[in-house]
Amino acid sequence: MTREARSRLRQQVRQWQEQQWRLEAELLRLSRGVLVRGSLVPMYKACNKGGCKCTRGELHGPYWYLSWSEAGRTRMYFVKAAGQGRVRAAATRYRRWRQGRVQLVKLQQRILEGLNALEAAATRPVEEVEGAG
Ligand SMILES: [Zn+2]
Repeated sequence: MTREARSRLRQQVRQWQEQQWRLEAELLRLSRGVLVRGSLVPMYKACNKGGCKCTRGELHGPYWYLSWSEAGRTRMYFVKAAGQGRVRAAATRYRRWRQGRVQLVKLQQRILEGLNALEAAATRPVEEVEGAG
């Protein structure tokens, strides 16, 4: 690796480190709030009482449910109107948390690969190091 290539790589690793730092700061910020697994999904239902508009296809709703997957099954939890804002915010924080965590792992992998390449480029046989003085 040329001197210029190593210099560019060091600069790149520094940029990744800064991105990593920003991501970690965001995750720490998110951890101050409540997280909830799942997404809010609207559901429409029929009561099927005689003469109701739902029997003609105009369903009731939306009713908001939190939907998440657990042990391969989709779970649904009815969310009361009063709590919807809090649940939505917590679910959004949770999604952002998971995305950030995935990005963090990728970034750490890149940083490690960059450092490995710099190690390979900087490592010399002892005779060369001894003679360099
Ligand atoms: Zn109905």
